[in-house]
Amino acid sequence: MKIVKAYKYKLKTNKNIEEKFRQIAGCCRFVYNLFLAQKIQEYRTDFVMPNYYDQAVQLPLLKEEYPWLKEAPSQVLQQALKDLEQAYKNFFRRVKSGGVPGFPKFRKKGVHDSFRYPQGIKIEGSRIYLPKAGWVSFHKSRSIQGEIKNVTVSESASGWYVSIQTEQDVPDVVHSSNTAVGVDVGVRVFAALSDGTTYMPVNNLKKLEKKLTKVQRDLSRKKKGSNNFKKNAKKLALMHERIKNTRMDYLHKVSTEISKNHAVVVLENLKISNMSRSAKGTVESPGENVKAKAGLNKSILNQGWGMFRNMIEYKTKHSGGNIILVDPRYTSQTCHNCGYTSKENRKTQSHFHCTVCGYELNADINAAKNILAVGLTVSACGAAASAAQ
Ligand SMILES: [Zn+2]
Repeated sequence: MKIVKAYKYKLKTNKNIEEKFRQIAGCCRFVYNLFLAQKIQEYRTDFVMPNYYDQAVQLPLLKEEYPWLKEAPSQVLQQALKDLEQAYKNFFRRVKSGGVPGFPKFRKKGVHDSFRYPQGIKIEGSRIYLPKAGWVSFHKSRSIQGEIKNVTVSESASGWYVSIQTEQDVPDVVHSSNTAVGVDVGVRVFAALSDGTTYMPVNNLKKLEKKLTKVQRDLSRKKKGSNNFKKNAKKLALMHERIKNTRMDYLHKVSTEISKNHAVVVLENLKISNMSRSAKGTVESPGENVKAKAGLNKSILNQGWGMFRNMIEYKTKHSGGNIILVDPRYTSQTCHNCGYTSKENRKTQSHFHCTVCGYELNADINAAKNILAVGLTVSACGAAASAAQ
């Protein structure tokens, strides 16, 4: 079995190295934006959209016109073009699934500056060789295993990081457990399992978010461009990063636990677009807590669910388990006891009370039980083989 892993380390940079990083990131941004404009323009005039290959062949010419583009390795520029291609693919996928499309955006200077090497890098001890930037030391917190597939250098509020993606052949393992579990994800309860386990949304974020609002307010009072403004902006960016990291840690913790405990995990086949729609649905229905939360950071929540699902997926597979994806329709309105399906069964967000048989349960756990039941039915029919890919 092949497994893909990413190792992220903080780089030990200096002014000189950072300058080179910014140059390379700038070249990538330039190429990305220029070709995005080209895609838009050609589509407007001729209704054709140049693809990656159409654009990649233009790179050498572009370098003659803008010699400073040679500051960046050719392959890194090609990767920027691949990112653009991917952004378009994502866009069309969202259009097809009826979600909020979100057209590819132009990249801005200083916002998520990053670039990716598909090859040409070397690692010696805790130093990495990045073409056109040179040798850079990094904080090696754990050893790298597998064959290096690509390397991304990115800037965040706390500095520059390198993310090394590897692929490794590992022997197939047999999962140590033999249980199956259904997982329901939501806003009020982050994840509810069919065995009755619930994971609440990570709670120390509330405090952080409160502080964040305060810093944001302070920032709006400062004069733009002043030293105080810059100091505050930096503080804000660091807080955003901390919140993101806390969230990621939590997603990792919960997904590890679930994938270790169960050999088969049944998840709703939710597209992100559906997620935002259902979040909207919950806002409209009663439930104060949900209302506030969903309004707060809907997009981040959506993103979190997507990532969470991916994590469960790869972790379960790594430990020899299986994933089954099921149609999420009606799982929240159906009585797990008698099968009766109605909105009336769920007069409140948190509680499920069947109007036919009187079955009562935490609504999210009821949904998780339905998800498991659907998953096992699908599995028994053999249709899960493709779903579990
Ligand atoms: Zn019932």
